[in-house]
Amino acid sequence: MPQKKSRKATDNSHLPTVKCSCGAKILLIPDVKKMNQAIEDHILAHTKNIQNVKEAEAEAERIRNELIIKVLDLASEM
Ligand SMILES: [Zn+2]
Repeated sequence: MPQKKSRKATDNSHLPTVKCSCGAKILLIPDVKKMNQAIEDHILAHTKNIQNVKEAEAEAERIRNELIIKVLDLASEM
């Protein structure tokens, strides 16, 4: 796997993760599509029990924004 930015800590087992407000950790993946998929997968965990469509959409939007901000934040530090 090519690594463009190898400014990593010596401890490689500690991979960067974004932590959701629910406490779940989502691994930061250096691939936008896969990262998006991981976020969407996690959003489903939040919305699957919400019966009201509008409520589910609002919750999805909230989680998506929260996670994307964290991802960008983390990515800017790498
Ligand atoms: Zn969550």
